[in-house]
Amino acid sequence: MLSAQTRDAVTAAASSRLFRGARTPRTLAKLPVAEIERLIYPVSFYRHKAVHVRQTCEQIMSRFQGRVPSTMEDLLTLPGVGRKTANLVLILAHSSADNICVDTHVHRIANRLGWVATRTPEETEHALYAVARRRWWPLINLYLVTWGQNVCRPVYPLCGVCVLVDVCPKIGVVKAGKA
Ligand code: SF4
Repeated sequence: MLSAQTRDAVTAAASSRLFRGARTPRTLAKLPVAEIERLIYPVSFYRHKAVHVRQTCEQIMSRFQGRVPSTMEDLLTLPGVGRKTANLVLILAHSSADNICVDTHVHRIANRLGWVATRTPEETEHALYAVARRRWWPLINLYLVTWGQNVCRPVYPLCGVCVLVDVCPKIGVVKAGKA
């Protein structure tokens, strides 16, 4: 919920501060929004995210008996939770092997490699269920995010040093970067 439009290091530091302040939905639901804002700053949209964190924790307490929901349907009813977050929660918190978490890296790389031809992360998620082997579903996010941060970067991907350069059609790549 905190990571959208925010660098990993900033999200990690904000999460640590937040969880030092309150570790459970019960205690987080009691923190004033201004205090959550202070703890998670400088993540992007920290004011919106603070409200969503507080509201989500309140709803986990009032509607789900203090437990993070374990279905996509229920997760999507929580404020600030979209399919990316919901899929990640199902994979990491509930050990689901039936979900693919698609963020901007997975969407971009799956299209560059020609696995899918889609316009949005949600379209990519549904297309990947059809073309990716099931055993990779819960791991695709981990691998492609790491790949996207280090090699197949959004701008100027490092095709010259990429191990996939001979098989990748590089769809949509206008200019590769220098290693
Ligand atoms: S060859 Fe270029 S576009 Fe294809 S996966 Fe590697 S870095 Fe990405």
